[in-house]
Amino acid sequence: MIRETKAAATAEAESPLSLKRRARRMGRILAETHPDAHCELDFTNPLQLAVATILSAQSTDKKINEVTPKLFARYPTAAAYAGADRAELEELIRPTGFYRNKATSLIKLGAALVERHDGEVPGRMTDLVALPGMGRKTANVILGNAFDVPGITVDTHFGRLVGRWRWTAETDPVKIEFAVGDLFEKRDWTMLSHRVIFHGRRVCHARKPACGACTLAKLCPSYGTGPTDPVAAGKLLKGPRVAELAAAAGVPAP
Ligand code: SF4
Repeated sequence: MIRETKAAATAEAESPLSLKRRARRMGRILAETHPDAHCELDFTNPLQLAVATILSAQSTDKKINEVTPKLFARYPTAAAYAGADRAELEELIRPTGFYRNKATSLIKLGAALVERHDGEVPGRMTDLVALPGMGRKTANVILGNAFDVPGITVDTHFGRLVGRWRWTAETDPVKIEFAVGDLFEKRDWTMLSHRVIFHGRRVCHARKPACGACTLAKLCPSYGTGPTDPVAAGKLLKGPRVAELAAAAGVPAP
């Protein structure tokens, strides 16, 4: 079956309007494909999300969620992190990797929050990125998920996928954030981020993307990067909704 589409064949010459239309169509398919997309870090307030997001660098959300219940109980406030016993804090977060650097970040974050924001996590980008250990990616996660302020989270999945989709040729995360932001309504940014990341985790893997079992195949200029055979591709699908993902792509359940 010839899957390559006009959009794919003419990707080099795609006008900004065609790109926006194709991106939004893909965004709608992503919404149907991943209705369960959400922030996978467990948290109940902005401070917990800030801490979990800092810990998530070079780790998995699953690992972070194993560590955070004890951590959040032990350090319920910014002041508690500021005054933490370093050895004890390091021990609690050790399974997340890079625990010495992360402990430093958490202690400094706690101190800065107490000093500058009465112990509260601020809900503005300019204030967030001025905090220790906080880049735009972390800030966007916090804004989007704890404050309902739309944000695009450019992690490795996001960067890889939007490159494959030729939504942008940028490689710098901040430039990617702005380029993709231009393609979508602001109100859609946060959920779009979750859906793209879910697609990266479950379908469009770094090595061997499941092209033959992908709902975006018809609109993706990189179709064929991974196996196109439906059975072989179906086996590459990951996560708890493998059967639904296969059905959505019209291929046999693996
Ligand atoms: S899995 Fe293949 S077809 Fe689907 S988005 Fe990734 S590269 Fe494109």
